[in-house]
Amino acid sequence: MIDKPEEERANAILALPLEKVMAAVTHMGHDIPCPTCGNEHWALASHDTTANVLNVPIANAPGLAHWFFYMTCKRCGAAKFIDAAYVLQTLQQEEQRNA
Ligand SMILES: [Zn+2]
Repeated sequence: MIDKPEEERANAILALPLEKVMAAVTHMGHDIPCPTCGNEHWALASHDTTANVLNVPIANAPGLAHWFFYMTCKRCGAAKFIDAAYVLQTLQQEEQRNA
């Protein structure tokens, strides 16, 4: 969830380079065959050099939203949503391990 006090995290998510998000979702195991059609090729939605972020409002918590990166199957269009904060946390933990 992203709200005003979490602006720093929101900015960090929006600044993640596309290749880092792609590497993270692959490392996290999301690059598996599509459960609908079995195709093995997914497209991570992106614009220029950053992955697209879906901003999903929380209906029972006005002002709060959940952010997701998303991938679509290149054959059937099935979609997969990945928690953006979790991707950021995974990347930050990996950077700390490699520091
Ligand atoms: Zn598919």
